[in-house]
Amino acid sequence: MLVGIVGWRGMVGSVLIQRMLQEGDFNFFETRFFSTSNAGDKVSEKIKFKGSHILADGFDQSALADCDVILTCQGSEYSRKMFPTLRAKGWSGFWIDASREFRMEEETTIVLDPLNRSSIDSALKTGRKVFCGGNCTVSCLLMAIHGLVKDNFVEWVSSTTYQAASGGGAKHMKELLTQAGKIYKQVDSLLSQDNSHILDIDRKVLDTQKNFSGNEMHCFKVPLSGSLIPWIDQDRNDGWSLEEWKGDVELNKILGSDKKEKVKVDFTCVRVGIMRCHSQSVILKLKQKLDIEDIEKILDEANPWVEVVPNKKADSEQFLSPLYASGTLRIPIGRVRRMKYDDSCISAFTIGDQLLWGAAEPLRRMLRIIVDQNFPKDV
Ligand code: NAP
Repeated sequence: MLVGIVGWRGMVGSVLIQRMLQEGDFNFFETRFFSTSNAGDKVSEKIKFKGSHILADGFDQSALADCDVILTCQGSEYSRKMFPTLRAKGWSGFWIDASREFRMEEETTIVLDPLNRSSIDSALKTGRKVFCGGNCTVSCLLMAIHGLVKDNFVEWVSSTTYQAASGGGAKHMKELLTQAGKIYKQVDSLLSQDNSHILDIDRKVLDTQKNFSGNEMHCFKVPLSGSLIPWIDQDRNDGWSLEEWKGDVELNKILGSDKKEKVKVDFTCVRVGIMRCHSQSVILKLKQKLDIEDIEKILDEANPWVEVVPNKKADSEQFLSPLYASGTLRIPIGRVRRMKYDDSCISAFTIGDQLLWGAAEPLRRMLRIIVDQNFPKDV
């Protein structure tokens, strides 16, 4: 089996490759690496795989069409261009995609196998070949509240997010750091003086933030370091951002409830100046009143990655933090308590590394499901 990987040097792609190396995935198939920007260059020697180390051109239709599976983390624009082109040329392989481009298409299964393995299996059985990773916030939230949604306890969910800069990609992370570095340089000398006045420091910081050049805000368009942006992705002109809209439709599609009773979902998505991991403050309206202890047990037992953090100050500070979840598959959820205004409503706080469970990991696992079942491309 030949697996083509496109977009492997970006944020999601790099994390994907790291995970594939950790799990020894490259032993199970031949790999062809593609690039849309530096074909002909070499794939890093650190990546051990079966296949040529020369990068193929991401727009080379015949090199792509050789592949039984194409896994792309390149982005929507690439998918929009290349997938229909390959299909029109008769290519019938599996398409695994990190982007949002085809998530809501009828043919597509949004993959999050700890929750929807049965949908994945029936899609494979019926010959479906498009498998997309879900929106990062949705996947991390579902991993956290898996126990409650699995047993159909949830009537509605409202989530306010704190999403990391890396949600935008590699260049966005660099922009955040560049801004932070510039701010620091302006106040470095004042910080080292014991008697410097805090309002002088504050004014210099604000001045710097308000005067970033266009280049320094190229990705986010407004300052992010030391600030936040309560809007992510496009404006749908109906009061919701595209990121918030995805929360509702994708969550229900993953649960298969788009065809039956839907969980009502409301998101307010906020970009914050942190590097990695999306955090969420969540309110869940349950269909019945449950004891907090029972809720914590249901949450904790749902899958091997979710970790219930006791609702205590020290535990919350240590384990409910992006730093604790970053670079791991852990999904901590804590601050679980009953809301005062409605005793069937609970609030909670959860964090997930959006590059792992929110992006790379479901794709990696989907690739292994296909490879392990050894589906030939013309089935
Ligand atoms: P990204 O970091 O911007 O990378 C995308 C591609 O951009 C790379 O694979 C690379 O492709 C190219 N690129 C150009 N300049 C680059 C540079 N300086 N460093 C690295 N790559 C560069 O985007 P991403 O965050 O990985 O997102 C990829 C897709 O996954 C998007 O559709 C996104 O919406 C989706 N997604 C992202 C996240 C997330 O948290 N970031 C979560 C879920 C889904 P070439 O080698 O071909 O040039």
